[in-house]
Amino acid sequence: MTILLPTSTAGSLPKPSWLAEPEKLWSPWKLEGEELVAGKQDALRLAVDDQRQAGITIVGDGEQTRQHFVTTFIEHLSGVDFEKRETVRIRNRYDASVPTVVGAVARPKPVFVEDARYLRAQTDQPIKWTLPGPMTMIDTLYDAHYKSREKLAWEFAKLLNEEARELEAAGVDIIQFDEPAFNVFFDEANDWGIATLEKAAEGLKCETAVHICYGYGIKANTDWKKTLGSEWRQYEQTFPNLQKSKIDIISLECHHSHAPMDLIELIRGKKVMVGAIDVASDTIETPEEVADTLRRALQFVDADKLYPSTNCGMAPLSRRVAQGKLNALGAGAQIVRKEIAA
Ligand SMILES: [Zn+2]
Repeated sequence: MTILLPTSTAGSLPKPSWLAEPEKLWSPWKLEGEELVAGKQDALRLAVDDQRQAGITIVGDGEQTRQHFVTTFIEHLSGVDFEKRETVRIRNRYDASVPTVVGAVARPKPVFVEDARYLRAQTDQPIKWTLPGPMTMIDTLYDAHYKSREKLAWEFAKLLNEEARELEAAGVDIIQFDEPAFNVFFDEANDWGIATLEKAAEGLKCETAVHICYGYGIKANTDWKKTLGSEWRQYEQTFPNLQKSKIDIISLECHHSHAPMDLIELIRGKKVMVGAIDVASDTIETPEEVADTLRRALQFVDADKLYPSTNCGMAPLSRRVAQGKLNALGAGAQIVRKEIAA
């Protein structure tokens, strides 16, 4: 990246109210058939424009073409039965009705590659595409076939790698894998989670990122966070192995987070997407607050490796709040760029 402190979002942005019910996760589409296809593309263009207006450097699709960051990818795979549902506990936190793995999983055709091409055509700026990570995928399913979390994760890693290679060929500059499960299942993450993540990223020449957060600002997550105590040291468990991994960028939450900022020291040498926007609050940060978070992060990450970002996706927020937060992110990064240049 030639520009200093390149900004980006962690992934999702709110959808327009004509496309899906706002301020809701897993919100059903309001359109059908060709209207839905066109509606998703229109929403993607608006998301790009919102980011452009806020001065965001690395542009994403705002996840406008998917209902959910994990399930939409899984819906396109064979071997998973969406009619056969079981209730499972997701990330040890909340129960959800999820589809069942009934046979060998495969990716019969590309999932997001057309959408990524469409995004590529909208902008000359670098683009980032988000995919779920293998461990977070297995945690959102009931497995009646492999009966092994690790085995299923390796299978998903292969399918993710097929998708990632085609996204790269479509012109994606950064492929980001979302692994909030790394903040919950430390032993599995260290035993095979990071290895399956590297498998998903194998052979890519574009940059790769992993996003590890404490989740969207939904009730199940905010209730869970209340149980974590005053200092959240979850990152400490996986950072040493992530530092040694082949992943280029680590995305984490910092602003209003109880995760101690000095844990970033553990991934010294990696590029760090520092979350400077709280997605669990409707209060819009001031550019100065964003700048303050970035300045504190600069104690632990070199300026050329600091990527200002949001703590997580902004899908459940109102569009007005999300736009305000995007603007603050862009303006806050600009304040610190000027300070570094001076
Ligand atoms: Zn997140």
